[in-house]
Amino acid sequence: MNTLKPSFLDALKQAVGPENLFTEPASISCYSYDASGITSYPACVLMPVNTEQVSRSLKLAHEEGVPVFSRGAGSGRTGASVPQNGIALVLTRMNRILDISHEDLLAEVEPGVVTGEFQRQVERQGLFYPPDPASLAFCTLGGNVATCAGGPRAVKYGVTRDYVMGMEVVLADGEVMEVGVRTAKGVVGYDLARLLVGSEGTLAVFSRLFLRLIPKPQAIGTLLAFFPSAVCAMNAIASIFASGILPRTAEFLDAMCLKCIAQEMPHAVPEEAHAMLLLEVDGTPAAVSYELEAVLNCCRSNAALLYRIAEDSQDVERLWALRRGISPAIRRLNYRSRISEDICVPRHSLPEAITRLNALQNRYGGVQILTFGHAGDGNLHVNCLFQEGPESPLISKVMAEVFEIALNLGGTLSGEHGIGLTKRPFVKRELGDRAVTLMKAIKGVWDEKGILNPGKVF
Ligand SMILES: Cc1cc2nc3c(=O)[nH]c(=O)nc-3n(C[C@H](O)[C@H](O)[C@H](O)COP(=O)(O)OP(=O)(O)OC[C@H]3O[C@@H](n4cnc5c(N)ncnc54)[C@H](O)[C@@H]3O)c2cc1C
Repeated sequence: MNTLKPSFLDALKQAVGPENLFTEPASISCYSYDASGITSYPACVLMPVNTEQVSRSLKLAHEEGVPVFSRGAGSGRTGASVPQNGIALVLTRMNRILDISHEDLLAEVEPGVVTGEFQRQVERQGLFYPPDPASLAFCTLGGNVATCAGGPRAVKYGVTRDYVMGMEVVLADGEVMEVGVRTAKGVVGYDLARLLVGSEGTLAVFSRLFLRLIPKPQAIGTLLAFFPSAVCAMNAIASIFASGILPRTAEFLDAMCLKCIAQEMPHAVPEEAHAMLLLEVDGTPAAVSYELEAVLNCCRSNAALLYRIAEDSQDVERLWALRRGISPAIRRLNYRSRISEDICVPRHSLPEAITRLNALQNRYGGVQILTFGHAGDGNLHVNCLFQEGPESPLISKVMAEVFEIALNLGGTLSGEHGIGLTKRPFVKRELGDRAVTLMKAIKGVWDEKGILNPGKVF
């Protein structure tokens, strides 16, 4: 339903041009949801093509007090970009890679660049942008920065936060400013760029990003190993770290995930396997072969049942297919509701986290829990499947207990996906009253009228 005044819509049309403003129901509904499944409609959709247009739109929205919901590809899993009336500000038409500098190891991009496309361009030039969310084929760099996205390579290379040097932003009142630096170092004043990373569209709109690049590793080694138990797999990871090796990825699948995969690829999983690790190392060819051998020894000494080392790029794809296949395989299981969370615990607590999740499943007959994810950084994707519909109190009860497990082990509600709408009720439990009050005060300074992504995070 369009609740905006005709005169305001006319002004917006002038600000962005009629070709970049949409009010008809078909366009509105395209921007009414994200990957969380939550749906709520904007009053209009703007697709600006430059900073000037973003600035003019925000100035108008600020004057009128109209909410603005920034949006990249809408692949978020928490409802963070879902509009609630107001303006859906879609940044996907601002999708130019403006510069890739070898000398400064710096890229300047617009926020709507698709992450995977950026990585391809950067790697073509012998450079590397490590953050690799599984959604990289379609998500945007702006969305990645706003959620501080991570992926399998975070264990060695860190997350999006570690690659944001600075950015051009449009403030809630339409003013354009730069935060952060374009230099390798810079310590003047508070680090506003870092504050904006992970701010989920609540503090400012990113119109340009300055991203750090590193040299591309020369070689990668990939190893897949099956274990008789999750504890053996976790112990293998602990011994890899203890041996001084920092793997590039350390991905984990639990027994339920392997069962699920085995239904679709019966010969891929040994019968006695109850856990799987997909491990990668990278560096010079000599370092890779040394580290791969050491990683293999760690797996062997922790009761690995079977292992495979990729011989060529096709093999790499085959091994990764087991890891990548799990989400679609879970989706094909016949359950009415699936809630996928991304808790993170200190690495040493992983075995205990798995034990407590198993106990949780046993306590509640009706839930099936499958756990997989980035064990190398303690980040577990806990998938809870229910025969009940989404409104069932059982679901909220079980999910609250999943979060309690993470927090009681010194962990966090979210290692990757952020808070958005879905995890709002649990934020105070993790951060405490004082931190939430401070954060709300910061929000108030950046966005006095509360027009930027209202109703999210807090
Ligand atoms: C299949 C699948 C796999 C996924 N795998 C991962 C994963 O491995 N790791 C991971 O971290 N996430 C993952 N995600 C979640 C999601 O892809 C990430 O959160 C991603 O960073 C969102 O990018 P987006 O462009 O889709 O942003 P959107 O979903 O459109 O928006 C996300 C947030 O960013 C804000 N935003 C977007 N653009 C801007 C901007 N220019 N200025 C200010 N704020 C902005 C929005 O307001 C919103 O709060 C996955 C999602 C799916 C569907």
